[in-house]
Amino acid sequence: MSNIDAVWALAEAKRAAFFALSDAIWDKPELSFGETEACRAHTAMLAKEGFRITEAAGGLATAVIGEAGEGGPVIAFLGEYDALAALSQAPGIAAAQPMTPGGAGHGCGHNMLGSASLLAATAVKDYLAAHNLPGRVRYYGCPAEERGSAKGFMVRAGLFADVDVAISWHPASFTGVNTPISLACIEADFHFSGRAAHAAAAPHLGRSALDAVELMNVGVNYMREHMPSSARIHYAITDAGGTAPNVVQARASVRYLVRARELDEMHALFARVKKIAEGAALMTETTQRCAVVSGTANLIGNATLERVMHEALERLGPAPFDAADRALAAEFQKTFTPEEIRAAFLRFGLRPRMDLPLCDFIYPLGGGDGSLVGSTDVGTVSWVVPTVQMRGATCAVGTPFHSWQLVAQGKTAIAHKGLEHAAKAMAATAVDLLAAPALIAQARADWQAVRAGRDFVNPIPDDVMPPA
Ligand SMILES: [Zn+2]
Repeated sequence: MSNIDAVWALAEAKRAAFFALSDAIWDKPELSFGETEACRAHTAMLAKEGFRITEAAGGLATAVIGEAGEGGPVIAFLGEYDALAALSQAPGIAAAQPMTPGGAGHGCGHNMLGSASLLAATAVKDYLAAHNLPGRVRYYGCPAEERGSAKGFMVRAGLFADVDVAISWHPASFTGVNTPISLACIEADFHFSGRAAHAAAAPHLGRSALDAVELMNVGVNYMREHMPSSARIHYAITDAGGTAPNVVQARASVRYLVRARELDEMHALFARVKKIAEGAALMTETTQRCAVVSGTANLIGNATLERVMHEALERLGPAPFDAADRALAAEFQKTFTPEEIRAAFLRFGLRPRMDLPLCDFIYPLGGGDGSLVGSTDVGTVSWVVPTVQMRGATCAVGTPFHSWQLVAQGKTAIAHKGLEHAAKAMAATAVDLLAAPALIAQARADWQAVRAGRDFVNPIPDDVMPPA
């Protein structure tokens, strides 16, 4: 039996417990930084598997780290387990049907994400023990990916300082290793303070904080023409200063998300947004205060790690979905628009097909047209550790993320097979790296070359604390 077959057999031997872990987390969706039960379930699994456990890692109540093995390189597997608000949905049926009206749901598949990463870590731990090999495997149970960018706090706490390689994945329509395109992002509140006054009797005595918010938004919208076209800026007025038009609003707040392809570009753009806020305050004779909430760096790719992971996927082949899985996926596809299905293919640089309910191939290395323009806090990890992330098919092709359709598929045989498949690909990547220290050295050299001359400034400033 080859190394890879051995670690796959170890993953298969324990998969049932990890399907159950994923299902239990699906059953109890918890929002960012509130993942008490999910963290407890991951901690219990780490204890059962004999990992050395660090609870409340980095001062985050719902973060946990488990380590196993001795000596050798440190391989990290990154897991997540937070859910999304207002996405409650019954499992396994292709019709919108909330279980708890207004309740949360696993609309991004993070119930599978954490469980597969922990299964990969467990299989590699068992592999090292069975073969008496040096090497440490670490599972990082990371909270608050959807809101809060907890990995940024974990990086700031130095939890990745001695890690050689970080491995992760995300549920998707297709299976493969991307050329990573994820934007650096910063989230910040701008609070304006003015002076209240009767809007008819003494308007000249008032100084409107709401005017300042509006002028700031106008200013930022004028800036759009003069920023990189790949950058994104969004805002929401979080406090309009009240509902009475006959009162000059003494306070108002607006929340901004500023995103750019590169971390330094994002910092530069954010500095301009802050100047516009200062300008708005100056124009209105109000004062303003900027408070950063969270932020993530862009994801840095790693050609060596991507090649190793892609080769592992090629050996593994696509996830073994069967006729029943395809029939269920086809039911879900009836609830998507043709545009949604086409867009899923185009996003991965693939020619659209309307006759493919579930992914049955590994997409080519480096695929994608660069339009995966969200942000992930895995990006911040990639600035301090060579990092690789794959996508693994866990749902019908074209499933929109953050949707009831994704929640509904998260506790099916499709989800279980996708979870196990991703775990095997990640475990094989780790075993290949542990067997060839030169690959780990090459991955570090690649990483240093990309980082050369670029400072890492964590988008989460030192004085910003995670929510208690
Ligand atoms: Zn996600």
